[in-house]
Amino acid sequence: MSENIRVAIDGPSGAGKSTLARSVAARLNFLYVDTGAIYRTIGYAVWRKGIDPRDRSAVVAVLPDLEICLTYGTDGLQHMELNGMDVTAEIRLPEVSRYASLVSAYPEVRAYLLEMQRQLARENSVVMDGRDIGTCVLPEADVKVYLTASSLVRARRRYRELTEKGITCDLKEIEQDILDRDHRDMHREHSPLVQAEDAVYLDSSDMTL
Ligand code: C5P
Repeated sequence: MSENIRVAIDGPSGAGKSTLARSVAARLNFLYVDTGAIYRTIGYAVWRKGIDPRDRSAVVAVLPDLEICLTYGTDGLQHMELNGMDVTAEIRLPEVSRYASLVSAYPEVRAYLLEMQRQLARENSVVMDGRDIGTCVLPEADVKVYLTASSLVRARRRYRELTEKGITCDLKEIEQDILDRDHRDMHREHSPLVQAEDAVYLDSSDMTL
């Protein structure tokens, strides 16, 4: 039995998972693992190669060419590397969100990333956030939280984040994108976003951090 502690935080995009997970990890001195960033890295690779994300066999064929590395900078932040290049900033582009959500539905993509996520939790105490951490990646997690918020609140948060980074965006479009992603993430066949039976349900719509 490992003595490492595993905290799983799942929920839809923009619910506040990463903000919560990052600050809990810092306080407990655990490793924060943002699994969405790993899926985004694959989405980004597919986008850069000009592959149609709806073409499952083309996406799967590219996986052996990808070397995905998760590193922690001196800033303590999680960085993503794709074939030796730091793509931490690029994977946040709105277009990459859509690609990540589409490619993450393929079981081959999920299987490809599963061991990487589990290994991090074997070697470290972790706060891991994503969609299927409590249900699939770490079903034995010590603490599970299902964090959600209304789509409008989540869109407003994303809008503020992007605007602060100087990215021009439209609130309505962001909310629609969030609703589309929710639908895809919740209704896909493999590892859909659902609350684990033993997860604590938390609606952050009217909560501060
Ligand atoms: O969390 P984030 O919005 O960065 O994740 C991007 C996409 O990656 C999600 O919309 C979802 O489709 C996918 N994802 C997933 N499983 C995870 C984490 C993210 O399918 N554990």
